[in-house]
Amino acid sequence: MTPPVDTPIGRLGLSICYDVRFAELSLWNRKKGAQILSFPSAFTLNTGLAHWETLLRARAIETQCYVVAAAQTGAHNPKRQSYGHAMVVDPWGAVVAQCSERVDMCFAEIDLSYVASLREMQPVFTHRRADLYTLHVNEKTDSEDLKFATFPIPAAHIFYSTTHTFAFVNLKPVTDGHVLISPKRVTQHLTDLSDEETADLFIVAKKVQKMLETHHNVQASTICVQDGKEAGQTVPHVHIHILARRTGDFGDNEIYQKLASHDKEPERKPRSSEQMAEEAEIYRKLM
Ligand code: AMP
Repeated sequence: MTPPVDTPIGRLGLSICYDVRFAELSLWNRKKGAQILSFPSAFTLNTGLAHWETLLRARAIETQCYVVAAAQTGAHNPKRQSYGHAMVVDPWGAVVAQCSERVDMCFAEIDLSYVASLREMQPVFTHRRADLYTLHVNEKTDSEDLKFATFPIPAAHIFYSTTHTFAFVNLKPVTDGHVLISPKRVTQHLTDLSDEETADLFIVAKKVQKMLETHHNVQASTICVQDGKEAGQTVPHVHIHILARRTGDFGDNEIYQKLASHDKEPERKPRSSEQMAEEAEIYRKLM
């Protein structure tokens, strides 16, 4: 997904045609700071008559953005005719410029102070109930150094990250293929996470599990969270352990004892940073 870009007339969310039917994409652009949404399109005559203006106005109203929609018009061939009616809608939902069905041009003023004042008057984005519903976007982010509680985790040990979550290799893995997934925000308990962070964390965990099982050629994994000191948590920052499992690797679920003690076993030495970076590089490519 391409985030909005800064232009001389404001921050512009980039979408096209059929995208206008998917409110989530426009909401995501707004969350990323868009003030204007563009939808260059070629709607057919039928769908244009029925939906074009309604969809554009809906996206403008719910995102409080200007919507600028260039549109192809006229017959492309005997079977295909485009609706035209290129238009600009203001953030209140008013159509402030519109072309005819002929080849035409129209102009509108983009007033960012109007965008700001409408948003202040109706702060719908601060009224969204993230405790009841969330907008989840599979958004991969660039590598950056992060913190695991107080421990610095270098970007080279991180093999996947999203807006709220990062996945990294373990200092003292219990099995071949034992990684950790954490929220970027340093917080100790799962219950401290917002629903948005929780959704993101577990969606990333599932993706990582799939990758690990394929890479290590295993059919099973242990996925576990030790949430709090008494539950075995030694690093006070939420983390999901994902361990690739193999037949007979641990007796009678002794894995849980192992997880509680592996950090403290003197014979289990921390791996070198280079070793960890090497493993992360393999996973990064696979993700
Ligand atoms: P827990 O006992 O559930 O809190 O798990 C902590 C996990 O973090 C253990 O598996 C450790 O091996 C791992 N760990 C601790 N420090 C680091 C670090 N700097 N980088 C990567 N993994 C770490």
